Amino acid sequence: MATILDGKAIAARVRAEVAGRATAFRERYGRPVGLVAVRVGDDPASEIYVRGKKKAALEAGMHAEEHHLEASASEAELLARVRTLNERDDVDAILVQLPLPRPLDPEPVINLVRPDKDVDGLHPVNAGFLATGRKGSRPCTPVGCLKLLDEAGVKLEGAHAVVVGRSNLVGKPVALMLLERNCTVTLAHSRTRDLAGLVAQADVLIAAVGRPRLISGEWVKPGAAVIDVGMNRLEGKKLVGDVHFESAQERAGVITPVPGGVGPMTIAMLLSNAVDLAERRATGATRQAG
Ligand code: NAP
Repeated sequence: MATILDGKAIAARVRAEVAGRATAFRERYGRPVGLVAVRVGDDPASEIYVRGKKKAALEAGMHAEEHHLEASASEAELLARVRTLNERDDVDAILVQLPLPRPLDPEPVINLVRPDKDVDGLHPVNAGFLATGRKGSRPCTPVGCLKLLDEAGVKLEGAHAVVVGRSNLVGKPVALMLLERNCTVTLAHSRTRDLAGLVAQADVLIAAVGRPRLISGEWVKPGAAVIDVGMNRLEGKKLVGDVHFESAQERAGVITPVPGGVGPMTIAMLLSNAVDLAERRATGATRQAG
């Protein structure tokens, strides 16, 4: 029977650490760390996510704002809003909640957020830093997955990691982070042949697909570490992951539940990224002034 990784408890510890750093920042620089979320339209899930992020940031002693634009907002309006935030000195971290309502294209706005304020690590400059093994802002969910594996004491060096899903938000960055930690990484996607056969070889399995219970527990290698990023609502509204939890926990060594696994870590790492950005910008500014 697998050990269940308590994402809520680990996230609470990270958030307490972040709150300490946010207080130290405020004392040192005379202002709080500033996080701004931009939300467009009325997607109910986005509204809940942004509310949660803002609340968590306030609890950590940061300044948090939500900028809400109507669903009918034009690309020009959205870009103008981001330009203003890019220029504000009290704003350290900007996040644009995705998905954007149609017909807005996320790419121009992702490209416009200043890389040194890009708290989600989605700007091509930050994606490039990750791909080339350099420091930069990294996407929160993948950072949270790595933190969970570390907290569970999973040995990554030399392990075969199978990542299912290749989005820019989760699959690709988590694969690069596992590679950086010396895993042998296989990145699977919708055209992969024999997903079951691949999963069966995984010492570390990351599922980031968005298909309820796609990965059967019988596929899981005995003793594997299973991190389930998927968040899927069933018709009865129950939230389930991409992995069939009940059967997978019979075989895995450690496994994350849904909910209560990766989800809480994403918010915790967002706060951690925001403080990182604030500190980096503040020390950069001090160095320039000196
Ligand atoms: P996405 O952009 O839709 O990407 C899904 C990926 O899964 C794609 O690469 C796709 O392959 C692959 N895929 C689809 N069907 C597949 C199949 N049958 N077999 C193998 N691969 C398949 O999704 P995402 O943004 O990465 O999110 C993935 C899941 O994580 C969603 O449930 C999302 O809600 C959840 N999520 C959770 C958190 C959190 O904080 N817990 C954060 C972010 C996302 P192709 O590239 O070939 O189409």
